[in-house]
Amino acid sequence: MSSDLTPDEVCDPALDQLVAERLEVVRERIRLAGGIGVEVLPVTKTFPPAACWAAFRAGCSAVGENYAQEVVAKFGAQRSLPFGVHFIGQLQTNKVRLLAPLVTCYETIDRESVLREVAKRVPGAAVLVQVNTSSEPGKGGCAIDQVPELVERAVAAGLRVRGLMTVGPTVGGPEDARPGFRAVRALCDSLSLEVCSMGMTADLDVAVQEGATEVRVGSALFGGRPPAARAVR
Ligand SMILES: *Cc1c(COP(=O)(O)O)cnc(C)c1O
Repeated sequence: MSSDLTPDEVCDPALDQLVAERLEVVRERIRLAGGIGVEVLPVTKTFPPAACWAAFRAGCSAVGENYAQEVVAKFGAQRSLPFGVHFIGQLQTNKVRLLAPLVTCYETIDRESVLREVAKRVPGAAVLVQVNTSSEPGKGGCAIDQVPELVERAVAAGLRVRGLMTVGPTVGGPEDARPGFRAVRALCDSLSLEVCSMGMTADLDVAVQEGATEVRVGSALFGGRPPAARAVR
């Protein structure tokens, strides 16, 4: 992958324009859902570096990535990036070391072991605690009743807990995500956490209605991904 290219070299004017137009459509959806000041995190997994730069040039301050190997391949040779990289994939303790120089926010802190490893490798890191509201097997996130304790432990370990993150149910329609989104926003409020990361291409409207402060959007900005990469955890 073209990780050692300079910003100008990864400039693809046609892609820049397409992504800027699609971002405007996403922002309009957010407006219609009543969202004000909602951050759009462009999810660039499986897409080339040019997609990340296009999103940055369209006004996004960070991108979302799911796979440690891919993050290193895309950005590992960059001395510094003008945008942040949020890790939104399932976090394995043995991958934190690879991610440490590149990731600016870990959105998928969902258990003690991961929390400890991030605190050790990246003292003071910005994190979100991931909540699993749909109790689907194999999906990341801690149970809702474990959130306060995990947040407390992360703070005690010196991490900067900025908020909570959740992924809507993988079956059903957007409305099926509503109760979980509502519960996560309520939890953010009761714990005085600022960031509420929820909603993707299919259900961002419902997420914004329920109080998302950040939506994570892939296909609405960059088009479809190959089926193997579509699974979210
Ligand atoms: C892939 C992914 C997204 C973006 O999904 P789209 O449906 O393409 O918008 C958002 N959040 C997480 C955790 C993901 O894995």
